[in-house]
Amino acid sequence: MPTKSLRTLLKGFVLLAALPALASAHPGHDGDHGFGWDFSGGFTHPLSGWDHLLAMIAVGLWAAQLGGRARWLVPAAFLSVMTLGAILGHGGLQIAGTEQGIAASVLVLGLLVATAARLPVAAGMAIVGIFALFHGLAHGAEMPATAAGLSYGLGFVLATALLHAAGLGLGLFTSRKSTVIPQTAGVAIALVGVAMLAF
Ligand SMILES: [Zn+2]
Repeated sequence: MPTKSLRTLLKGFVLLAALPALASAHPGHDGDHGFGWDFSGGFTHPLSGWDHLLAMIAVGLWAAQLGGRARWLVPAAFLSVMTLGAILGHGGLQIAGTEQGIAASVLVLGLLVATAARLPVAAGMAIVGIFALFHGLAHGAEMPATAAGLSYGLGFVLATALLHAAGLGLGLFTSRKSTVIPQTAGVAIALVGVAMLAF
């Protein structure tokens, strides 16, 4: 076997071995909060939880691939439905399988980016909206009805918007070189989604 393919194979194994660690790297979804109820707690949560981080970057990458109005309408749909989900969760709405819904969002959004799926803007907004609901619900119920809880929510939304923008920028920038680059990122994101559903 040539050395190059051996090295690629080894890298694949290392990635696979790291997947369970990535899949469980998320404090705060089972009531065990590793963060404070304030703006910085909300801001750092999507950046430290792989499930939120990857799904939100994938939304930006996909928006870049869709182009046109979708570039801002698709991330805007995620942001607004996520906020709505947090409000509904805070009001007591619970949906069974929220964790699985978040994991599924990583897998499906990764696949959409991997295949550079072309869908009408409205369909794209609906798909990211459904997943955004789970991301919002996951934290809405536990957020205290205080100024600190509100700051936490604002931090969370701002970090989400920045992750969308990062994905969008990355997608627009790399696709000028080759459309394969964002699609490869989509494959990697989908793989982590598989691990999240499996472990
Ligand atoms: Zn979370």
